[in-house]
Amino acid sequence: MSAESGVAVEALKPGSLSQVAELVDANHILFDQGVLDAFGHVSVRSEQDPQRFLLARNLAPALVSEEDILQFTLQGDTEDSRPPYLERFIHGEIYRARPDVVAVVHSHSPAVVPFSVSNVPLRAVMHMAGFLAEGAPVFEIRDVAGTGSDVLVRNRESGEALARVLGSGSVVLMRGHGSVAVGASLREAVYRAVYTEVNARAQASALALGACTYLTSDEGVATVETMSGQLHRAWGIWRTRARGSRGPLPDSVPL
Ligand code: MN
Repeated sequence: MSAESGVAVEALKPGSLSQVAELVDANHILFDQGVLDAFGHVSVRSEQDPQRFLLARNLAPALVSEEDILQFTLQGDTEDSRPPYLERFIHGEIYRARPDVVAVVHSHSPAVVPFSVSNVPLRAVMHMAGFLAEGAPVFEIRDVAGTGSDVLVRNRESGEALARVLGSGSVVLMRGHGSVAVGASLREAVYRAVYTEVNARAQASALALGACTYLTSDEGVATVETMSGQLHRAWGIWRTRARGSRGPLPDSVPL
């Protein structure tokens, strides 16, 4: 059943049909843009209940469809019997700490990871990434899970610690793991996740050439203001590309 045909979907889901459909598009866009691969996930706060969020079941993002979207409490619980993502606590604890956040993307996008393990801070080198003008803090999982963990955010305690390091920011890096981008809308969170990866590539290229000039804080504020009116242009082309490149999905995807 699809969002277009889906009375049954509506009966199962707390979010509106359009919100579920947009979350499915977000999964496919983030895969198509190289931010998510087999792993990583994107969620959105429920329009109908701000104490709940929507997130796919444990599945590769490119394979997610409307039927795979589950509802969670901010504590990370769901009534659905299908396996959830191990790291759902990233989402719930950020929503708990940040009432202004409407969407969360967690990825292992490859150009960002080096900045989580080096002494060079990730900073904005281009106007499309003005939201990084103040840099991005790095979450150290060892502070809560010791030196022998698998570095995953597997419980509420780690999620709470991650949300504290994110603070009031847009992006937090996770040492030896990946990053999280948040936004006041699903489209903004997706935009930030994509341009965090693009900026990381550009910054690494610039650093390879020599000294690097970064956006000032004021340039960051000004570019964010300009780009906030352009988010829908990016969403439109990314969605068109993602839908066109998806191809037919199998009838059923085990697990
Ligand atoms: Mn992860």
